[in-house]
Amino acid sequence: MAVERTHKITLIPGDGIGPEVTAAVVKIVEIAGAATGVGFEWHRFAAGAEAFEQTREYIPQALYDSIEQNRVALKGPVTTPVGGGFASINVTLRKKFDLYANFRPVKNLPGLATKYPDIDLVIVRENTEDLYAGLEHEIVPGVVQSLKIITDKGSTRIAQFAFDYARKHGRKKIHAIHKANIMKLSDGLFLRCCRRVGEGFPEVEYKEHIVDNTCMQLVLNPYQYDILLTENLYGDILSDLCSAFIGGLGLVPGANLGRECAIFEAVHGSAPDIAGKDMANPTALLQSAVLMLHHIDERAAAEMVQNAIEQVYREGKTLTRDVGGQSGTRAFADAVLEAMASSTAAK
Ligand code: ATP
Repeated sequence: MAVERTHKITLIPGDGIGPEVTAAVVKIVEIAGAATGVGFEWHRFAAGAEAFEQTREYIPQALYDSIEQNRVALKGPVTTPVGGGFASINVTLRKKFDLYANFRPVKNLPGLATKYPDIDLVIVRENTEDLYAGLEHEIVPGVVQSLKIITDKGSTRIAQFAFDYARKHGRKKIHAIHKANIMKLSDGLFLRCCRRVGEGFPEVEYKEHIVDNTCMQLVLNPYQYDILLTENLYGDILSDLCSAFIGGLGLVPGANLGRECAIFEAVHGSAPDIAGKDMANPTALLQSAVLMLHHIDERAAAEMVQNAIEQVYREGKTLTRDVGGQSGTRAFADAVLEAMASSTAAK
């Protein structure tokens, strides 16, 4: 099909398993685009340690400029050094572009047996403040302080995002997750903002659960939840927990959304233990790309990719090891491409 329109997308392959999963995803998205009249111009940038070697900057100015111009980025994971070193690239980009809403849908794939069938949860995580503000200092040797920043503005706008999403998509229930019995001021403010926004949405049931109890409740009965509305750190932890319901981190996509820009990236990190071994599951980044295609209004391409992913899982013959299969990253990607080709041929 002739290309009718072209989208400029900033691409950050990342490191660890990032380059492998990104290569698979770009190939699949391009073929889906070609079949639906959509072209892509990828503006590719390194970030983190790799970028520093090349440019002496962890996030090159040209990368910032590219995201500002294109307003949409697809990003692989970038390793964050533990206990020292440079600040997280992921967090820095979210803060720089004020991508305040981290949207993470957790849904089973057809044919993939798990202990928890029919999960359909959404995590809406505040993405710019909390303990991720990066405000830490040593008061005296042996005593450090990390500041937890919670604001009325940040809490109100993430609550507004969650309730708007619930209304638009017919979701029934929102649980605000907190520890306001201990952090009375910060989590107390978060809850007050959620309650205030919730008053404008009488059709959406609003509840509050304490975060530690939520972990137990999720494992006992995740079906009681619909949307989890969280601050930054609780959302990070609950995302990994919830990913296990549907088969693990290899599957869950994510979107970082702001008023001007959006960056689409998987929930998982750079998984150095399996990097470069053709073992990584590209499904999480691929489903993030599906969210991106919806965001840029390319619904036909989005559906084509999603249907192909689901067909490959339904058949269950070419799955990666993390979900019980025997195949590698490239073989899985080829199976998705084949599923797309056969759906196009059938039309
Ligand atoms: P971060 O804090 O940066 O998000 P993390 O601590 O959550 O990272 P990950 O890098 O996400 O850790 O990975 C945790 C483990 O999950 C990995 O060691 C790997 O075994 C597995 N894993 C993560 N992503 C994938 C994937 N796409 N395919 C297969 N296995 C994965």
